[in-house]
Amino acid sequence: MALTRTLKLTLPKLMVGKDVEAHKRGVARALGSGRLTTLMSKAPIVRRTFGVFFVTDVKRLQELAGISQSGVIGPVTHDLIYDHMDDLAVRLLKEYAASVRPRLVEPNQGFNSLHSSLWEAYTIGRRMGLSDLGTYNPASRLPSGAPSDHAVNPAMAFDLGFSPGTGWNNITARAFAEKMAGRAETEYVILGDRIWSRDRGWRRYSYGGHEGHVHCSGIR
Ligand SMILES: [Zn+2]
Repeated sequence: MALTRTLKLTLPKLMVGKDVEAHKRGVARALGSGRLTTLMSKAPIVRRTFGVFFVTDVKRLQELAGISQSGVIGPVTHDLIYDHMDDLAVRLLKEYAASVRPRLVEPNQGFNSLHSSLWEAYTIGRRMGLSDLGTYNPASRLPSGAPSDHAVNPAMAFDLGFSPGTGWNNITARAFAEKMAGRAETEYVILGDRIWSRDRGWRRYSYGGHEGHVHCSGIR
């Protein structure tokens, strides 16, 4: 079972989650000396919090395994701890992973219609109030006549709409387009008469057709 997020001591706001508790159970079982009993005696919120004492135990386990004592649970330390997890710990890990996934908004054509690298970007736009105008479309063409990023399956692009179609003057659409520009997973973004691309930045776009939607392409 893969690690959903890197776990570490964060200040002032501590990390909390069932995934933290799962790793605390694993570490307690690995190090023994009554640690599991002590952990079980704590309130749920305490069991799920990555506090200062847990850092010490993570470092101790890393020391015993002969790996870098960072006190941070990345993929390598996770594998180490996972070997000591019992059924309850594994269940907590799964519950955490399941609670994260629904935070994504599913495209109207389904998750499989859009490349997974764009799920988060798509979700951001939908949460801002833009509407789904499509992901996969085998007939979609670029102004040049070549198949667009919508025409691959799953699509490497999505369109998020708004009305009236005022292009760049729509405040929400502009805020979304500016948010997408420069993100690690975006290749280019079009809104109204402007386009941003990874290699050339913002400039004018004169082909039209984007007065009522933002087009966002991922990296192929
Ligand atoms: Zn498009």
